[in-house]
Amino acid sequence: MQQVVASSNKVNLLDFDRQGLRDFFTQLGEKPYRAEQVMKWIYHDLEDDFENMTDVGKALRAKLTEACYIGAPKTLLDKVATDGTHKWLLGMDSGNAIETVYIPEPTRGTLCVSSQIGCALNCQFCSTGAQGFNRNLSTAEIIGQVWVAAKYLGNVTHQNRRITNVVMMGMGEPLANFDNVLKAMKLMRDDLGFGLAAKRVTLSTAGLVPLIDQLSEAIDVSLAVSLHAANDELRTELMPINKRYPIAELLAACQRWIARKPRTSITFEYTLMQGVNDQPEHARQLIKLMRKLPTCKVNLIPFNPFPGTQFKRSDAADIHAFQTQLLNAGVLTMLRRTRGDDIDAACGQLAGQVTDRTRRSADIRKRQDEGATHAI
Ligand code: SF4
Repeated sequence: MQQVVASSNKVNLLDFDRQGLRDFFTQLGEKPYRAEQVMKWIYHDLEDDFENMTDVGKALRAKLTEACYIGAPKTLLDKVATDGTHKWLLGMDSGNAIETVYIPEPTRGTLCVSSQIGCALNCQFCSTGAQGFNRNLSTAEIIGQVWVAAKYLGNVTHQNRRITNVVMMGMGEPLANFDNVLKAMKLMRDDLGFGLAAKRVTLSTAGLVPLIDQLSEAIDVSLAVSLHAANDELRTELMPINKRYPIAELLAACQRWIARKPRTSITFEYTLMQGVNDQPEHARQLIKLMRKLPTCKVNLIPFNPFPGTQFKRSDAADIHAFQTQLLNAGVLTMLRRTRGDDIDAACGQLAGQVTDRTRRSADIRKRQDEGATHAI
């Protein structure tokens, strides 16, 4: 298998959504339907060698070999936890690496995909945030994570689906890498790609308000919002992005999302940290917010500690009391079971390897503090 970062000038076909691939084939002087033929080989048969594409003519195979390649990220390490959770460490350029996690459950298999090397948003409770930011992933590096996992798991699109759901909840803020994430999600949804329904592809954001609106117009996928606190003071402390887009603006964007997509719901992620945001008054504040979005649900996540963090997981009794308080108020509330703890694959624990980040992270944070609209 070739790597995403090729030394030649060849084009990586994983960088194109269907329309991009059709355009590329047209540029090569080929009929656009040929692009779809090749696309099926790439995503349904997980084939990365043109020579094995038996219904593609010999001359075209030679032309493709000359001009392009199919390059998913290289697996540096794969680990399986005792509960079946699988984590891949995938190599990028300059010694960087990202993490992709597969969580098998009786009725579904969820793949958690990364969108950036590191993250600039600096949420205080997040292992990725603590690593700083290096760069956005390309479309090939994002969809390549699904490709690698699908190949490893023996996934067959439309037949033997091992990956039934993809969540953009790995390393990075997906909306800060809008164009590449959008193309990758189109490939997840496309029938000639991984063919997943809108409710099975979820993008999770820390709340980049204008881009939530942009996303709702660009594609049908599900939305999750990392909330983690129900008042601005605490949320700004935990998630500096709240200073730029406070809770009222974020919830207004969510209301617009629901208005545009009336049959969908939004999941609000709320990580419970001992003594920080897990008390009855916090639950009351959250209930008040959720009244504005009655069809939405809350996903409670017991905090997953990582080395160097100041936070602790809430006590089981506090978690139970918090959930009960929400449920009694009529808020649909789920409690996420922590998975993959023994391989650091649990939510918020993904760190990968982020190099050369210090200056870029500092620059981005400075621009955020200055209030730049597209600081990230
Ligand atoms: S929680 Fe998400 S947005 Fe915040 S630092 Fe971590 S990866 Fe970035």
